[in-house]
Amino acid sequence: MFSSGINIKDFQNDKLTISVHVIGSLSNNCITIYSPKTLDAIIIDSGNDNDAILRLIKKFNLKVQKLVYTHAHYDHITSADVIRSRFTNAKLYLHEQEMPVYRFVPQQVLMTTGENLNKLNPVDQFVKEGEKLGLELSDGVDGVEGEEFKGLLNAIHTPGHTPGHLCFLCNFFSIPILFSGDTLFQQSVGRTDLPGGSFGQIQKSIKEKLFTLPENTVVIPGHGDFTTIGEEKKYNPFVRG
Ligand SMILES: [Zn+2]
Repeated sequence: MFSSGINIKDFQNDKLTISVHVIGSLSNNCITIYSPKTLDAIIIDSGNDNDAILRLIKKFNLKVQKLVYTHAHYDHITSADVIRSRFTNAKLYLHEQEMPVYRFVPQQVLMTTGENLNKLNPVDQFVKEGEKLGLELSDGVDGVEGEEFKGLLNAIHTPGHTPGHLCFLCNFFSIPILFSGDTLFQQSVGRTDLPGGSFGQIQKSIKEKLFTLPENTVVIPGHGDFTTIGEEKKYNPFVRG
């Protein structure tokens, strides 16, 4: 799972923990960021396996506060409603330009799996380029300051795989961490042949936005192995040079 130079210790400090779980029929990387003291949590890309994600939330006893999505392909997002039905404080965050893809989730599921799915409930909040998403901690826990988790995730709009695709940069650990969804993979990029996709745009998003991040930034993609910005600049055949 780990590329050279990536250490699991980089994903935790005394205040927050990041854990990555492979979930669902397309092996999505589902990310939880939570306070080990209060168990308040943000989930990025909760995936499409309802039972697995509910088991995971229960196992860690997480209080789900935000459900943040890089984009609205069914393998990333279909479990949003089952989580929101159990954790009614949890809010769904998505880029506004992703709405055509979001509305199309039942058709995506029907076409790929043959299953019938109801329309997902409305998005709670749209996220813009440059917006920061925080984690507020529950009150009453000693030595925990909610304020410092403001701006935990910085949204970067990276159209190309889908029109409203977002990556999220986290500067709260010992090295920068980028959640790249289906924009940037280890030595690959997201497919651009689906509705709203554009190869020119994904190249531009990666070169002009992601490749300006520090080389040691760890990249946790929506699927597959972790990598770093430095390694991708050197070896990714789709966006090199
Ligand atoms: Zn996708």
